[in-house]
Amino acid sequence: MDAQVTLLDQLFDAGLLIDTGVDGLYGRSGLFEDVIARFDALITSFGGQDGAEVVRFPPGMNRAHFERSGYLKSFPQLAGTVHCFCGDDGAHSNLLQCLETGADWSADQQISDVVLTPAACYPLYPMAAKRGALPAQGRLFDLMSYCFRHEPSRDPARMQMFRMREYVRMGTQDEVIAFRKTWLERGRELIGRLDLPFEVDVANDPFFGRAGRMMANSQRDQGLKFELLVPVNSAVNPTACLSFNYHQDHFGSVWGLKTASGEVAHTACVGFGMERVALALFRHHGVDVETWPASVRAALWG
Ligand code: ATP
Ligand code: ZN
Repeated sequence: MDAQVTLLDQLFDAGLLIDTGVDGLYGRSGLFEDVIARFDALITSFGGQDGAEVVRFPPGMNRAHFERSGYLKSFPQLAGTVHCFCGDDGAHSNLLQCLETGADWSADQQISDVVLTPAACYPLYPMAAKRGALPAQGRLFDLMSYCFRHEPSRDPARMQMFRMREYVRMGTQDEVIAFRKTWLERGRELIGRLDLPFEVDVANDPFFGRAGRMMANSQRDQGLKFELLVPVNSAVNPTACLSFNYHQDHFGSVWGLKTASGEVAHTACVGFGMERVALALFRHHGVDVETWPASVRAALWG
């Protein structure tokens, strides 16, 4: 049995995660949720004084916005779309018959206007652009959303539905680079308070296909993405728990978002994998939170 299966089984046995029969789709216990809520509050204790505008979107987004964002160009393999039954009585009885006989019942399902949110910041850019040019000091947002990625796995740190808390900065190149630098420092301090081993390294997104390999290399060469990695399942392949992304003017160009002086806006975001940090805590400090180091308990529960 490999280490990943062992950790997932331990989490099921401890009742922290609840098996649904689908890899990467789990229920969470009250304790697991409490750890997430405390970690969420710890993030706010680092970022709350910056005056970010809090926005919460549901875990589904406008399909037209999703299409325009370019997500399907880079990550078609991860996307999840919402399809709905749009048939008449005849189609309904056909559907029921298919269910009865175990045949494919999805023929009359049609794509809806909703897709599952792939990262918390995707619905934000069109909203921000609709407001017009950025104010002189740019904008800063605080987001959290359940996200979907079609990457079924027995690695509990690779879920299909998970929460991402984000701060997103929009402004000039200098402003967004300074934001990312601040959060690279804060992220180290924050995870240090949780007494978790970590390293920060340059990274790339999981771009699809042959063209994707070139995009990944270019992203690395330009240092556009950094990750704070904590060993969760494996000491050899630590898990990205925080990401620090500089999008240059990608979203600014796609959405026509301008700075106060009329330049195309640059954007950056810091993303916190809420479940991944909770899993790292349980992995390193044990499934019984009462026995966690006093400093870690103090950082979370005060
Ligand atoms: P990975 O390299 O592990 O696939 P990523 O680079 O795709 O992660 P981002 O797109 O930067 O991750 O997402 C922001 C954060 O969301 C990550 O730092 C991570 O903590 C979390 N995250 C990403 N994918 C998953 C997943 N499948 N399950 C749980 N958390 C995830
Ligand atoms: Zn983001």
